[in-house]
Amino acid sequence: SPPDSPASEPSSALAAGRSAIKPSDFDYLNIIGKGSFGKVLLARYKENEQYYAVKVLQKKIILKKKEQKHIMAERSVLMKNIKHPFLVGLHYSFQTTDKLYFVLDYVNGGELFYHLQRERVFLEPRARFYAAEIASALGYLHSLHIVYRDLKPENILLDSQGHIVLTDFGLCKEGLEANGTTTTFCGTPEYLAPEVLQKQAYDRTVDWWCLGSVLFEMLYGLPPFYSRNTAEMYNNILHKPLILKPNVSNAGRDLLEGLLHKDRTKRLGSKDDFLEMKFHSFFSPINWDDLMAKKCVPPFIPTVSGPTDLRHFDPEFTHLPVSTSLCNTDNLHVTSSVREAAGAFPGFSYGPPVGHAFQ
Ligand code: AMP
Repeated sequence: SPPDSPASEPSSALAAGRSAIKPSDFDYLNIIGKGSFGKVLLARYKENEQYYAVKVLQKKIILKKKEQKHIMAERSVLMKNIKHPFLVGLHYSFQTTDKLYFVLDYVNGGELFYHLQRERVFLEPRARFYAAEIASALGYLHSLHIVYRDLKPENILLDSQGHIVLTDFGLCKEGLEANGTTTTFCGTPEYLAPEVLQKQAYDRTVDWWCLGSVLFEMLYGLPPFYSRNTAEMYNNILHKPLILKPNVSNAGRDLLEGLLHKDRTKRLGSKDDFLEMKFHSFFSPINWDDLMAKKCVPPFIPTVSGPTDLRHFDPEFTHLPVSTSLCNTDNLHVTSSVREAAGAFPGFSYGPPVGHAFQ
């Protein structure tokens, strides 16, 4: 098939009687981020002029890293995640000969990390609000037997109103039953739980460790067990007792101790998962029904003048030229590795039911 046409596969969009979506249906305006497999771009869907974040991954690179399973997991996780207020929504996924595309909600309040770096620490009510929204999203994923596993500030975005949006489900591990475990080593050094570092079996409680790490960093300004020396940090995570300076409330320190318990069987969340967060005293000011309904007023509203306001994105990315190869693959050189990668993602393309696309 010509490179610019979607790779042939039974696409749900076609099955639903609509023409399949393709790269040239979008105008690509800016690069807004980079992950390990490709770029994230701000794009406008020509038909309705709405803005989306389009994540473009190179099939070749994914295959080289043997990450097919993760990418397919990301797609099905995003698909399953039909509606949760604090998880990014997937509108579409499609593929060409050499690339995979995810069409996501465009979230432009910036990374939590970006705001945290600017302010060094957050006051407790603000950290509580973010931790509560994150915890409810994690609890929801767990209820679908999904472990997020890679929670870190870069994957935690703020929308223009100041609510949390979790992105990047690339490392989510699907199909973990309540007490199921898995042993694949992956994650980001700072937030790796001891059992992951030791390549021991882990389960959904790994996410509560990560929540503890993020909450710790919001309150104290650095990740727990931090050291500039990675080997020393690993050693600290495994063996160093958690030291909590007294400038955080008792309830906050108690929560951190529970979440950052090195023994996952004693960690907060190991019994009743999210319910153990919900009823912890640190969260007693939170009305969880209001939270889920986005009725809790965010403690901070990012300044954005409109959808094309990129001030919260790293200029390192936004100043990069947008490659024309994104929508024009006519001159794609079909090498053997491209050919090999072309058919490696059967069933990737996804379109919502007719009438629900691009709302
Ligand atoms: P990822 O590959 O998902 O880790 O994305 C890399 C970076 O792109 C993130 O850290 C964000 O800064 C940005 N990004 C990812 N998804 C979105 C989105 N839906 N809206 C806006 N920016 C995003």
